[in-house]
Amino acid sequence: MESSYKVVVIGGGVVGASVLYHLAKFGWSDVCLIERSVLTSGSSWHAAGGIHALNADPNMAALQAYTIDLLSEIQAESGVDIGLHMTGGITMASTPERWEWLKSTYRIFQTIGIEDCHLMERGEILERCPILDVEGVYGGLWAINTTYLTHSYFLSFPFLFLFFHFHFPFS
Ligand SMILES: Cc1cc2nc3c(=O)[nH]c(=O)nc-3n(C[C@H](O)[C@H](O)[C@H](O)COP(=O)(O)OP(=O)(O)OC[C@H]3O[C@@H](n4cnc5c(N)ncnc54)[C@H](O)[C@@H]3O)c2cc1C
Repeated sequence: MESSYKVVVIGGGVVGASVLYHLAKFGWSDVCLIERSVLTSGSSWHAAGGIHALNADPNMAALQAYTIDLLSEIQAESGVDIGLHMTGGITMASTPERWEWLKSTYRIFQTIGIEDCHLMERGEILERCPILDVEGVYGGLWAINTTYLTHSYFLSFPFLFLFFHFHFPFS
């Protein structure tokens, strides 16, 4: 480990690893990441791998879209299967209030240019996912890019391990 770096990233969770990944991608090599324990020992260890594609905040929506594209890219460029399952996702409403909320959310998505989602009747929900019990369901919102990961994408950039320093608490 050197005594100084241009950038020191503190914390080896998904956010720190992503910052390091992007710095390396843009050609920065005088960088390191320090982690007080081991990689993903914080919240990232517990994440269920669910990736949401819809957000009423346009900046968040753009970030989510970027992340989903990035995951496919990482899988392709590393050749490592990160367990990306592009299943699509349904948000269901089982009360009239929730259904009104879903419909208004959908209208917001339309106004900010998110087009890869649509409202669904019960029949379409069942078509998409026949094991669901749609009794009492008013409708749903389909998001084609909602997805999940079964493995960690940390697996896919072993070269970055050159920059990691573990068991090194920053104070
Ligand atoms: C049960 C559960 C399920 C979840 N499911 C999902 C999901 O399905 N989809 C989703 O998108 N999100 C999910 N999340 C949220 C997601 O896990 C977090 O938002 C994300 O992991 C936060 O990443 P992070 O890098 O900011 O923090 P962390 O993963 O907590 O990383 C911070 C790192 O910093 C290190 N650190 C802290 N202080 C220091 C120091 N002084 N010096 C050196 N290192 C230090 C820690 O050891 C840790 O490794 C879930 C969270 C939980 C708890």
